[in-house]
Amino acid sequence: MLHLAEIPFPEVERLAHAGKSLVILPVGVVEEHGAHLPLGLDSFAAEAYAAAAAPHLEENGYEVVVAPTINYGVAHRALDFPGTLTLQPETLRSLVVDIGRSLSRHGLHRLVILNGHRDRAHMKTLDEARGILVEEKTAQVLCTGFASDPAVTAACYREGVKQFYRSPRPDREGHGGESETSVALHCFPKLVKHGLIGQLDSNFDYDVEAFRNETKDYWSLSDGRGYFGSPQAASADTGKKLVSIRGRNIAQVILKAWDAL
Ligand SMILES: [Zn+2]
Repeated sequence: MLHLAEIPFPEVERLAHAGKSLVILPVGVVEEHGAHLPLGLDSFAAEAYAAAAAPHLEENGYEVVVAPTINYGVAHRALDFPGTLTLQPETLRSLVVDIGRSLSRHGLHRLVILNGHRDRAHMKTLDEARGILVEEKTAQVLCTGFASDPAVTAACYREGVKQFYRSPRPDREGHGGESETSVALHCFPKLVKHGLIGQLDSNFDYDVEAFRNETKDYWSLSDGRGYFGSPQAASADTGKKLVSIRGRNIAQVILKAWDAL
């Protein structure tokens, strides 16, 4: 796995002529995830999943290049929390299309958008960018991770992970809860407020429908707490398993789409 920003240009020329190369573009956001987790969690998680997916793709003959992460996204629901930033959808769409066109100009025609931020407007925008690039025959593009097609999201993130959760209410887990806290504890423990986790009450008593359908904002849904579910149920060990399995899942989604596995 190579990072585009870390290699010199002749290497890109070589990749363009390699039989099978693909570019993963991690996409995240700057958004609150509760008082215990960093605002950049979705970006960091997308990078972790890209790294976990890469070996499976390489086993299948791909050269994997990871492009610099898009750290900004569309995040209307958490705007009442300090630090949450949002782009207008057209800004994100243009950014992704411009990156896809530039890669393609240099012979990199396979682009995997790996999105770590669940937000309908954000996911729809990424799908629109994919549509533009495919329509103009710039590149083959896939939306993975949190995608506007719920079947893709399930195949990437939910397949094969249920048994690892320890939360007493897995049906109430969500943003900033067991899953995301576990991934943070495994991937970037220095950015987690460990001492705070034990002090956080579980947040199971919220309007799940409004949360899933995005009809209410995070502040009012969580009484200003910013997380949903049980951060206390999280562990680094769970995070390690989640990242490993989701990485494999994401690679499978890509291989199914492009290699008809
Ligand atoms: Zn998140």
